[in-house]
Parts: sequence; C-alpha cells; structure tokens
Amino acid sequence: MSDRAVLEAFLAEMRREFPRFCVIKKSESPLSKAIDVALKIITFGGQRAYLTRYYTVIGDRLYVPPGWDDVDPIDAVITLRHERIHLRQRRRYTMAGMTVLYLLLPFPVGLAYGRARIEWEAYTETLRATYELRGEKALRSPALRERIVSQFTGPAYGWMWPFRGVVERWYDEAVSAVSRGR
Ligand SMILES: [Zn+2]
Repeated sequence: MSDRAVLEAFLAEMRREFPRFCVIKKSESPLSKAIDVALKIITFGGQRAYLTRYYTVIGDRLYVPPGWDDVDPIDAVITLRHERIHLRQRRRYTMAGMTVLYLLLPFPVGLAYGRARIEWEAYTETLRATYELRGEKALRSPALRERIVSQFTGPAYGWMWPFRGVVERWYDEAVSAVSRGR
C-alpha cells in the first residue's frame, strides 16, 4: 500500500468510528483566530504557533494548521492517531466533562493536571504510532523526546505540568512499554 493509501484507509476508519468527524483549516476559522488571541494573552506570548503549527480537536472537528494537504501521509496518520484519542476521550467524558478536565482542573495555566493526563494519553498514542509506522529508531529519537516533553513543561499548553523530571520519567516508561508492544 502506498503512503497515501495508508492515510486514506486511516481516514475511512476514523469516519466509521466518528461519522461527524471533519477537518477545518484554522486559517478559515474565526473560532481558531479568537482562541489564538486568547492563548497569546494567557501565555504572555509563549504560545504563538497555535494557528501555524498545532492541531486542535473541538467536538468532532479537527482544526489544522496551513500545509495540512501537503503533510507527509505517514506523519498525517501519526497526528491523526493522537487526535483520535481526543475524540474518544470526548466520547468517554462527554463534551462538558472534557472541557472542565481540559481547561480548568486544577488550574487553567501553570498546573493543569487534567489537561496533562488527557494529553499524556494522546502523546502515548503518538509514540505507539511512531513505533508502528516509523520503527524503533524513530521512537527513540532524542528530538522527539525533547519536543514532546517540552509540550508539557513549556508555554505551548500553558505549562500544563512543569516538572521536567516527572514528564521525562513518564516518557521513558511509555517508550519502553510501547517497544515491548504494550
Ligand atoms: Zn493533544
């Protein structure tokens, strides 16, 4: 199967699980632009890439940065597998529950354990997808480790769990679990 066919097959699988799933470009979304402004204020400019680099799931919609159509198909599948976890979480917790967990518990910024656990589950899927689609070397890439750990400790998600040692321990445990096939 070509990489493009792998992506098409994955999208079809996702639509079977979430029939209302759809992709929206952030550049064409007034809601995304409003969130971008709010995030710049809340993070003192630390999160400036919301519109240009980040993917966001709200309800059944996936909001994507520019260039989505040209993303390498395998990278797209890895991203979509992360986002599918958020769609499942929304189903599990309901939209209201997910909003409270994601945005408010225990704090919106600085210490956001609810958001950290939600993202942790999704980033574990990122690791699993990376291993399955790109192999062990990609899974163990130091650049990937740094990128993911800093999502938790830095401004991107409002310093959701700013304890680098803790996050690195989660990370290393997840990598060994994934490489053992769990
Ligand atoms: Zn996420």
